[in-house]
Amino acid sequence: MPLVKLSEVLAIAEEKGIAIGAFNIGNYESCKAVIETANELKLPVIVQIFRRLFDNGKARDLAALVKGMAADSDVPVVMHLDHGKTIEQVEKAIQYGVTSVMIDACDLPFSDNIRITREVVLMAHKEGISVEAELGHVLPQDSDNKASFLTVPEEAKEFASKTSVDALAVAIGTAHGHYKEPPVLDIERLKRIQSVVDVPLVLHGGSDTPIEDVKKTIRFGIRKINIATELHQVYLDELLVQSELHRGKFSPIDVFMHPVYEKMKELVKEKMEFFALRK
Ligand SMILES: [Zn+2]
Repeated sequence: MPLVKLSEVLAIAEEKGIAIGAFNIGNYESCKAVIETANELKLPVIVQIFRRLFDNGKARDLAALVKGMAADSDVPVVMHLDHGKTIEQVEKAIQYGVTSVMIDACDLPFSDNIRITREVVLMAHKEGISVEAELGHVLPQDSDNKASFLTVPEEAKEFASKTSVDALAVAIGTAHGHYKEPPVLDIERLKRIQSVVDVPLVLHGGSDTPIEDVKKTIRFGIRKINIATELHQVYLDELLVQSELHRGKFSPIDVFMHPVYEKMKELVKEKMEFFALRK
């Protein structure tokens, strides 16, 4: 089926009380692993392409791959720009055929975040494309001073109503990248956000977050969970294993890559099944 909008799959998630997995892809194998697994599990999925790839032209080719695989898919597939920072990246994403964009202006003052997000919403909605924004700031793992960046529920309410976003990423204690120690999630804060905001909520930094915590976040309104680091780590680890096994031997690329693809599928399956259990 053709690609669908983010808002469509989030409506399914809301109705079922589940979350949809959003996986960052970067090549053929990662893209295929995500979409193939979604089909095997008969679950909707979000394929994400990080903003850097829109600056170096790779996103254009990856977008063509995603579109082709989605067309053969029996389940809804969303193609999403992850962490768009500039209007130019959003414009390119729209041009390449995404059905959802994230505008990440959360490091700007509150009023500027609203203004830029609103601008992107107007631009994207005109094309039938969904928009995710972020309020509060999901930090890199090595950052200090985490507490002051968490999402304030009252601001989230104002932000959602003034911007008309389709999904809101909140900062409740997760971080991007690998954790040095397990994250402490502020579930009470999430509950308060959920009680005043009626747009679906997004969890960034989903990689390596303990499953009991993830379960709670789904219970309290998280409908999209981003997985990038864990998927890429599985890819890197299995590449090393295969490189050792193939040392001194020739192997065609597709044959060499197949076990790497299978390992990524295992991780995507585990995540998708877990996110789709009613909590
Ligand atoms: Zn993120």
